[in-house]
Amino acid sequence: MKTGLFDLSGKVAVITGGNGGIGLGMARGMAEAGAAVAVVGRNEAKSLAAVGELEQGGAKAISVVADVTDKAAVADMVARVTSAFGRVDILVNNAGINIRKPPQALDLAEWERVIATNLTSAFLCSQAVYPAMKQAGGGKIVNIGSMMSIFGAGFAPAYAASKGGIVQFTRACAVAWAADNIQVNAVLPGWIDTELTRRARDEIEGLHDRILARTPAARWGAIGDFAGIAVFLASRASDFVTGAAIPVDGGFSIMG
Ligand code: NDP
Repeated sequence: MKTGLFDLSGKVAVITGGNGGIGLGMARGMAEAGAAVAVVGRNEAKSLAAVGELEQGGAKAISVVADVTDKAAVADMVARVTSAFGRVDILVNNAGINIRKPPQALDLAEWERVIATNLTSAFLCSQAVYPAMKQAGGGKIVNIGSMMSIFGAGFAPAYAASKGGIVQFTRACAVAWAADNIQVNAVLPGWIDTELTRRARDEIEGLHDRILARTPAARWGAIGDFAGIAVFLASRASDFVTGAAIPVDGGFSIMG
C-alpha cells in the first residue's frame, strides 16, 4: 500500500552494491515504494538475481555491471541508466569493502583500494548524476557510512578514514547542492548481518557476543532494517532533511 508522502512511483534509483547486503535491503524498500531500480555491482550473476527478485515483486529493475572506482565506468553506468529509464532521481552510494589490519600493517595499495571503493566512488557517482538531478529540478543522494564514521577502529584504519570522510563529503554536497533541491544524507549502519561482517564474525573470537551485549536492541541488524530509511531519504518525506548522518544501529552509538 503506497502513501503519497513516501511514494516513489516514477522515480529512478541507482544503488551501488545493490546486489546484496544493505544495498539490496534498500533496493527492496524503494522498489516496494514504486521506484525503478538500477542495481550496480561487479558480479553480474549476483546483480541479475537481485533484478529478478525485484521484478518478481512488480518493480522495474536493471543490472549495470560497473566498478565504481573507475571514472569512465561510472559515466557509462549513468548513461546506461538514463538510456533505460530516462532519468536518475535517487543515488545510493553503498558499495564498500574493508581490509582488517592495524595501521602499521596496511600497505599503500590496500589503503588506496579501500578509500577508492568506499569514498572516491561516492564522489565519482555523485558528480556523474548531478547534471541529471539538477536538470530534473532535484534529487536525493544517500551515502552509507558506518559506526566507524564516529568511533575509532584500530583494526580498520582505511575503512574508518573512508567512513569518516563520507560524512564530511555528505555535508559538503548537501551545502553545495541545496539550491538545486538535491538532498544529500548519510546512513550509519550498526552491526548488520551481511557478507561483509560474516567473515569478521567467524574470524574474531567473541565479536558476535560483544556486539549483542553493546546493542540496546540486543540483536544484529538485518538488511530489511534499511528499507524504511531508504524510502524516507529517497522520498519527499525528507525534503527538508539534508546533510544529516543518521544511525540505523539498534542504539549501538548511544551506549555509554
Ligand atoms: P556486502 O559485502 O554484502 O556488499 C557490498 C557491495 O558492494 C556488494 O554488493 C559489492 O558488489 C559492492 N561493491 C564492492 N566493491 C565494488 C566496486 N568496486 N564496484 C561496484 N560495486 C562494488 O556488504 P554490506 O551490505 O555489509 O555493505 C554495504 C555498505 O554498508 C558498505 O559501504 C559497508 O561499508 C557499509 N556498512 C556495513 C555494515 C555491516 O555491518 N554490514 C556496517 C556499517 C557499514 P560486487 O561484489 O558485485 O561488486
